[in-house]
Amino acid sequence: MRKKIVAANWKMNMTQSEATRFISTFLLEVGESRDVEIVLVPPFTAIATVNAALENAQHVKVGAQNMHWERSGAFTGEISPAMLRDLFVRYVVLGHSERRILFGETDEIVNRKVRAAHEATLRPILCVGESLEQRERGEVEQVLSTQLRGSLAGLGAKELQETVIAYEPVWAIGTGKTATAEQAQEAHAFVRRVLGEISDEATAEKIRIQYGGSVKPDNARTLMSQPDIDGALVGGASLDPRSFAQIVQGAGEK
Ligand code: PEP
Repeated sequence: MRKKIVAANWKMNMTQSEATRFISTFLLEVGESRDVEIVLVPPFTAIATVNAALENAQHVKVGAQNMHWERSGAFTGEISPAMLRDLFVRYVVLGHSERRILFGETDEIVNRKVRAAHEATLRPILCVGESLEQRERGEVEQVLSTQLRGSLAGLGAKELQETVIAYEPVWAIGTGKTATAEQAQEAHAFVRRVLGEISDEATAEKIRIQYGGSVKPDNARTLMSQPDIDGALVGGASLDPRSFAQIVQGAGEK
């Protein structure tokens, strides 16, 4: 049985004081349930503050939005895996479409980061997904297969099981257009099939696959009740503590 995982990708939002205010409201709203794994992914500048605000809520984990693959060195403006560990970060989002499109990250770069994350015992949340043009050209499976095989190259079964995949159709990110539950389930089942080919079926069954793309309180439950949807990566709606708490609760409902 895969435990659902819901992550808040705050992107380039939230100062330290905003993050502190978010957490006090969110913890009150979300309640005590431990059925769903919750991850907050603040910008680097708010990570220490988020950790401090979560002192009495150790079940809520902290992630980062990106990192470099090298351990240290002359990489001005970059953050290393060890620096994230030093801040008690557990997860790192890698290969987000905004990184791929706006910052030119290729599958090869993402693969270096994914492997470096595992070496540092950080768990990657690897994002994959097609653009609208690719969907309209009937290339969804080809795009997902290429991204998964390229980004996960060289990982063993244990590392794969400790990787979370986020299927995020680019046309659904920040647009208010959500994939239907059927479209999302179809893509997730395909992702799991490719994961089985990369490793084996038993390993693929253990890997959690989140859906991302305009997840909101009113569509979260339907999406996450699909058999291959094991949680959500949430952008816009995760900036509001009440909305994000409702999405987490939606993941816990059967
Ligand atoms: C995201 O950026 O990962 C995302 C899913 O954003 P939104 O929820 O705003 O579509």
